[in-house]
Amino acid sequence: MTPRHYAVNVIDLHTHSNFSDGSDTPAQLAARAHDLGLRAISLTDHDTTASHDQMAEACARLDLELIAGVEISLLDSTFARHGVDGQSFARGVHVLAYFLPLQAEHPVQQLLARLRRDRTERNARLTQRLIELGFDRLTLENVSARAANAEGVGRPHFAAAMFDLHPEIVGERTAASWSQLFVDWLGSTGRAYVAKTTLSLEDFIATAKGSGTVFSIAHPLLNYLPEYSATSIEAVMPAILASLRERGVAGVEAYYGGTSAATRALMLKLTRNAGLIPTGGSDYHGLFKEDVSLGVGHSGDLRVPDEILDELKAAR
Ligand code: AMP
Ligand code: ZN
Ligand code: FE
Ligand code: FE
Repeated sequence: MTPRHYAVNVIDLHTHSNFSDGSDTPAQLAARAHDLGLRAISLTDHDTTASHDQMAEACARLDLELIAGVEISLLDSTFARHGVDGQSFARGVHVLAYFLPLQAEHPVQQLLARLRRDRTERNARLTQRLIELGFDRLTLENVSARAANAEGVGRPHFAAAMFDLHPEIVGERTAASWSQLFVDWLGSTGRAYVAKTTLSLEDFIATAKGSGTVFSIAHPLLNYLPEYSATSIEAVMPAILASLRERGVAGVEAYYGGTSAATRALMLKLTRNAGLIPTGGSDYHGLFKEDVSLGVGHSGDLRVPDEILDELKAAR
């Protein structure tokens, strides 16, 4: 296959395969990236690097640079989240880790194994909670059958099952109703929300010390300021970025495929001001996020420059 060079000197450092909650196999994802003309890619499945070997083989055949990566779910207690009744909770955040060790015995991989156990427990509790709330035809078996990897079952698989089994509650599946389902049921504001882990950002970073792992905060606004304006971003994000840097985070996903060009430009400025590396990616999930395209993101105008990769490599 000849690359179309649609996106020259462009990279995508945030993608998912069917080893977590994406729908492409690693080989399909690599082929898509090659076809698009991407220079480099990172496959950042949730809490697992089990997809790495297949992806490495496919990328080697296509002469596509692969950065080892993972997207981990951790807690940030420094910036608590407030519930509807004013209660305060540690904030669940998604963190991208690049160049991490892949050997199963490494302490970093042991922590990933713990996160996968937390995920499995959460999935059982989430199923119970949904059944109590009226989704009585839903079973963990039905949800899990939608994932290629038993350890990769996540909320998008629950969302797909809820649409298939209970359209009388959640309506027909469209891009809009899919987002609404997260607002109403599965997201941190939703009635069925079940927290996943107690592992903190600090503990994970401490365990990775000396291993060459480079951390970047995934979709920083989704984590820290889900309802934002340019004014609130300028008011709130600088202190958060400074704190993250102090705690050993090297980068922030300023070029996030789910935000507008104007928001990305503002986040890029704040990220540089904080002395952090602006990383970027589409957060491509295939059919589990139908409105997001590989490389170019939600609006189609995302371009993550490949120079970022040199900065990330230098931070190892
Ligand atoms: P989990 O890893 O099981 O906690 O699920 C997290 C995944 O759910 C994310 O990576 C997204 O794929 C999806 N997700 C979370 N929040 C939303 C949202 N508001 N809209 C759409 N998808 C979401
Ligand atoms: Zn996901
Ligand atoms: Fe995420
Ligand atoms: Fe993601």
